[in-house]
Amino acid sequence: MRAAVLHSARDLRIERNAPPEMGAGQVLVRVHAGGICGSDLHYYLHGGFGSVRLKEPMILGHEVAGVIERVATGVTGVAPGQIVAINPSRPCHDCRYCRIGLQNQCLNMRFYGSAMPFPHVQGGFRELLVCDADQVIPLPETVSPYEAAFAEPLAVALHALARAGSLLGRRVLVAGAGPIGALIVAAARAAGAGEIVATDLHDAALATVLKVGADRAINIAKAPDALAAFEADKGWFDTMFEAAGSAETLLTGLKVVRARGTIVQVGQGAQASLPMSMLVTKEIDLVGTFRFHAEFALAADFIARRRIDVRPLLTEVLPLADAVKAFELAADRTRAMKVQLSFD
Ligand code: ZN
Repeated sequence: MRAAVLHSARDLRIERNAPPEMGAGQVLVRVHAGGICGSDLHYYLHGGFGSVRLKEPMILGHEVAGVIERVATGVTGVAPGQIVAINPSRPCHDCRYCRIGLQNQCLNMRFYGSAMPFPHVQGGFRELLVCDADQVIPLPETVSPYEAAFAEPLAVALHALARAGSLLGRRVLVAGAGPIGALIVAAARAAGAGEIVATDLHDAALATVLKVGADRAINIAKAPDALAAFEADKGWFDTMFEAAGSAETLLTGLKVVRARGTIVQVGQGAQASLPMSMLVTKEIDLVGTFRFHAEFALAADFIARRRIDVRPLLTEVLPLADAVKAFELAADRTRAMKVQLSFD
């Protein structure tokens, strides 16, 4: 079985490992598609992010989908030959957060391709993957594994929407049009947003968000003052999603979101210094959002029925043998929205 194993920054190797053993209650999946995510890129480019560092070789990847190869005796509801989206999130179901329904905050989370715990949790960029039967959601043959591999990032976007509250008829700003920002645009459109404005530094990303539901796309590298027009009367937007992970973007949000509006902080990593008085006097709700739980099944269902069509987001699929090339392409935001690996 081949897998994409990261040894240190920019040292990604295709290695052959023994095929995994399947246990009770489990399924064996032949992985077909794996999307490269921002966190995979951070591991690849920098060997980690923040205080999370790669301390041993790790198989990358958590946006994976494939076809069921075998199921353990007694497993029902899923059968060999079915296309499945694989949920990379494995909460313990026993800690204080799991017990109150906040599985995304699990104290013992074992999320695929994560160097947060040690030993690290190995990821899904491999030809064969054993997982628990409740991690896989079958999809109809009308969608491809490449679409199914969007279930994870779409779940992240749907959880961000859940944190925002109703978007019905609302004026929405999505700042940062990477894959998560673009999926938030698509989800906000499906959720009945009245007006969606997206911003980014790259025209390629903005062209894509216009295809998935944005009414207007603004390149703030070319027009840095374009959002100033939305500052009048204490701000234009009801809801903003900060998906750029930029302190400056969050500060802009405080100016262009109306009094009693909501800012959902999606991007992370930056340190921001905020004018507390603006947050206070405009009574802005500033909320965080992290991963997902129930939204994974919803995301898979939206993809299965093309309620949200993710196909415009897929830039290119490269074979596993070209993984390094795929990661370099994914890192180039002037060209890439979502790059996936093929394990066929
Ligand atoms: Zn837990």
